[in-house]
Amino acid sequence: MNYNKLFSDELKNIHNANTFKYETALEGPQDGKVRVNKKNVIMLAANNYLGMSNNPIVRKGAINGIKKYGYGLASVRFLCGTQTIHLELEKLIAEFIGTEDVILFSSCFAANNAFFASLTNEKIGFDNYRDVIYTDQLNHASIIDGLRLCKQETTDKRIYRHADMKHLQEILKEDKTKNYRFRIIASDGVFSMEGDLAPIDKLVKIAKENSALLFVDDCHALGVCGKTGRGTSEHFNVFGKIDVISGTLGKAIGGALGGFIGGSKDLIAFLRQKSRPYTFSNSIPPAVVGGSIAALKLLKSKPSIVSKLQKNTAYFRKKISELGFTIIPGIHPVVPVMLGEAEVAQKMSQELLKHRVYVKGLWFPVVPKGEARLRVQISAAHSKKNLDDALKSFKVVGRKLGII
Ligand SMILES: *Cc1c(COP(=O)(O)O)cnc(C)c1O
Repeated sequence: MNYNKLFSDELKNIHNANTFKYETALEGPQDGKVRVNKKNVIMLAANNYLGMSNNPIVRKGAINGIKKYGYGLASVRFLCGTQTIHLELEKLIAEFIGTEDVILFSSCFAANNAFFASLTNEKIGFDNYRDVIYTDQLNHASIIDGLRLCKQETTDKRIYRHADMKHLQEILKEDKTKNYRFRIIASDGVFSMEGDLAPIDKLVKIAKENSALLFVDDCHALGVCGKTGRGTSEHFNVFGKIDVISGTLGKAIGGALGGFIGGSKDLIAFLRQKSRPYTFSNSIPPAVVGGSIAALKLLKSKPSIVSKLQKNTAYFRKKISELGFTIIPGIHPVVPVMLGEAEVAQKMSQELLKHRVYVKGLWFPVVPKGEARLRVQISAAHSKKNLDDALKSFKVVGRKLGII
């Protein structure tokens, strides 16, 4: 069989469907502006919410990590891949997100892959058991894949309509008399395509009423939501009340890589024994640990970075609406600018780059048909001038394409 022909045919299909994902090589570090095609352009497509990706303090933390602890560990955690800085970082994160303890993973994707199977595939004192997981329809791919790793024989999966608490309560009620061991409710804290927040206060209440464990993936909320950036729990005034929180060090907190799960002391100790991506995959390198520690300490000591992000976000949301663009309303620095058809979003993204603004279009199947959009992401790294310049370009290009 000609395997390569299979691949190239499929690639043609992807091109024809207009869903091919292009990569643009940046010629320098990630900042409020980046260098692309030998030009400096305003970056509106990064998860670099706090502008820490190239912050001097964070860079120094990473360099010191290497100087003191070396480049790599050549090991998983329990063999010889735990350094004092790994324990320090876990403690710092736990304190920041309001859980008793934290376990690090190489990414949040790995953390979410680890969590569900670690619980549901283990007997833990039961010979016969069934578990059930209630999951929001729009949860992140890593949660969806995490659920795929749970054995069908012992795990029921129930999908509830996006952020629909009535629907969740209905299916919980149907299951009320069933003799489940674990009942787990899983939700993203912030849904990254729409920039909307899950109703975390209601989820906390519903989980409690139904003796369910609440799992929240706060990747897009950490450093972003709440007055001091502690995530959706702070925003909704339920800090310390989410059972399990997963998150990433690859977005607001430095933007390199690494993920984690926070929860009770016993749960985290259990995960260190049982989760396969933790037991069988390498430990995070000292540069990333050092950088992440510096990033978290910076965030804790300077919550004004979070206020700056929130101020920038409110300003951009107001101004882009005033120009006549349709956005999904909200408070999150993910600002979806709705354009309808994929071709429009694609064209607009290309034209904006010519006008020194870097922003990517999203269209079906990533978002529903007819809801193509540009996903703008605001950062604390943006100056007011950056935002004004970007808005000017939106105005010029929007008029040229007849959108406003
Ligand atoms: C980005 C993201 C992830 C993956 O995080 P990584 O650390 O990059 O693997 C998981 N869940 C959500 C909701 C995300 O936005």
